[in-house]
Amino acid sequence: MNKKMTVAYKIGDSLYLNITNRCTNNCVFCIRRTKKGIGYDLWLPHEPNLQELLDQVGDPSRYKEIVFCGYGEPLIRLELVTAAAAELKKKGAKQIRVNTNGHANLIHQRNIVPELTGLIDVISISLNAHNASTYAELSSPLNYSPDEAYSAVLEFTRHCKKYIPKVVVTVVKWPGVDIEACRSIAEELGVEFRVREFYGNE
Ligand code: SF4
Repeated sequence: MNKKMTVAYKIGDSLYLNITNRCTNNCVFCIRRTKKGIGYDLWLPHEPNLQELLDQVGDPSRYKEIVFCGYGEPLIRLELVTAAAAELKKKGAKQIRVNTNGHANLIHQRNIVPELTGLIDVISISLNAHNASTYAELSSPLNYSPDEAYSAVLEFTRHCKKYIPKVVVTVVKWPGVDIEACRSIAEELGVEFRVREFYGNE
């Protein structure tokens, strides 16, 4: 493996896993667009395999939480996420979270959420906007129409609620985003809501 490749990096007591550069969105606030990112060089020269990932994690029980996240969209690599989560649980991981754009069921053309049962404790889904047109402006879905992508995020969230103990939808504070309308959507979905400052993929 290239020595500079950062697959696992610590923030506080948590360990973040960077498993792909690929994404089905191109958000205005994406850390991939910032020069500094989050202080680590996260651009992957190749996507890590299971062994490379587990080697970089080491002992997962040392962390409060292990988070599958970007640079890109982690659930593009669903098989790796489920295989790694199973191994990490076996090795004593306390809590496993996925940060996702919520497109996984579109990407894989099936409902993948049941496959996360018992493996993922927390899922954080980027709602990003209060409607499809604002979502299009902010997140520019690459392969799907704005309506298709935004509806998929809402539908994915509903599925997650059935299978994953803690579900959070997030928005980034950004001009044009109606935070209170987003909060109401989260309430209607019956999930937690978090507003993020423009910072990155934490
Ligand atoms: S969904 Fe996340 S990784 Fe993808 S472009 Fe948006 S901020 Fe970046």
